Amino acid sequence: MSLTLATMAYSMQFADEGSTIRLHWKTLTIPITLSDSLTKQNPNIKTGSDVAGAVRRSFETWEKAANVRFEITTADKQSISASGKSGDGASLLTIAQTPENLLLFSGDTEEVSARTRTFFDRNGFITEADIVLNPYEQFSTDGSIGTFDLEATLTHEIGHLLGLEHSSIAGATMFQHQGKNGIYGLHNFNARTLAEDDISGIRALYGAKNSDANCCGSINGKLSTASGKAAKDIQVWIEETETGRVIAGVLTNSVGNFRIEGLSSGKYSVYAQDSSERKNPTAAQTFGEIEISRGKTTNFTKKLKSLAKTFDIQYVGFNGQISQLAVPLNGGKSFMIYVGGKNLDADKVTPGFNSPYFTVTPNTINKLDYGSEISVISFEIKVNSVIPNGEYSFYLQTKNKEIAYLTGSLTIESFENPWSSSIFSSVE
Ligand SMILES: [Zn+2]
Repeated sequence: MSLTLATMAYSMQFADEGSTIRLHWKTLTIPITLSDSLTKQNPNIKTGSDVAGAVRRSFETWEKAANVRFEITTADKQSISASGKSGDGASLLTIAQTPENLLLFSGDTEEVSARTRTFFDRNGFITEADIVLNPYEQFSTDGSIGTFDLEATLTHEIGHLLGLEHSSIAGATMFQHQGKNGIYGLHNFNARTLAEDDISGIRALYGAKNSDANCCGSINGKLSTASGKAAKDIQVWIEETETGRVIAGVLTNSVGNFRIEGLSSGKYSVYAQDSSERKNPTAAQTFGEIEISRGKTTNFTKKLKSLAKTFDIQYVGFNGQISQLAVPLNGGKSFMIYVGGKNLDADKVTPGFNSPYFTVTPNTINKLDYGSEISVISFEIKVNSVIPNGEYSFYLQTKNKEIAYLTGSLTIESFENPWSSSIFSSVE
């Protein structure tokens, strides 16, 4: 477990050091070569797994979200192109144990499910992207404990193949950490479905499907500090005002600017949080509501208030484990969740939600002993049965109204979390 805190939200890959040329495919139909190492019996994939279905669905998931299409053909090709300026032009998806493929994982100190190697030209057009499933790891499609979920892994890597970088929204498919089945005692299927943050990111690159009449609008933002300087490396995110669902998040750049694109028309609440390692960070704050309309860019210029930050949340937990991965929950049930961070005191903080669909069960807040580096508290939350699927944030607040958020770390999913502490009537 590491104590580094992710600060990026959805982000792009860039062709240049100044981060101005975003990587993306020029054509909206992308040819993919599926290695027969995946279609034939393979010792790294649990026997009986639905490999063809997992491959098909993971590409379709992105096709449904944005204006891209894939053409998949199978071949007996095994190894990805070696690193360099350009590859062989074929975007390969493989799990073969060849020296070239194994090289991608030789320096790993932690378990990595897969890697994607992208080739692009100086205009930022991707010319090839090869995906290797780690031939040292085990994959499955049925949630087998200790294996990576094949569909979740592929969906994440296809995001890279399309030009997306990692997100810090914990429930996003493009979140930088991907766990195995068994974490929190659950199937790890979360990344199979895209978070709103993934959808905004991919629409920013390729636009929405033509059928989506609601998309897209953008926010052009600038944040400054209380003393008027550029507020750099600040996490900015927006939530759908009505539901509290996290829609997208980004990080301000070196001059305090940020841009969020690919948004459907609607009303959103804007939040900012300083998660950097700098001295004297400011506490989280809200900037109220912003309205987004299709085809329009809304300008957003704000000054951060100077609010002392005295504690931080870094981990969420469930079923006795804490991690940076989002906890998958279902509506109509109650769950005991854990929160870990620096300087948390169960007697001094109160948990809360921006979403109307969560409540904290009174008198369930407990302090737990997890050693001296982090403090952990637990509490029971009740999830309303009509909650829409998606990612939600929670916060801890002190009596002085200082707030710290863990953005998008609760994810409402269709697959079952059977570890609820109680199931209540669906009439609320
Ligand atoms: Zn990744």
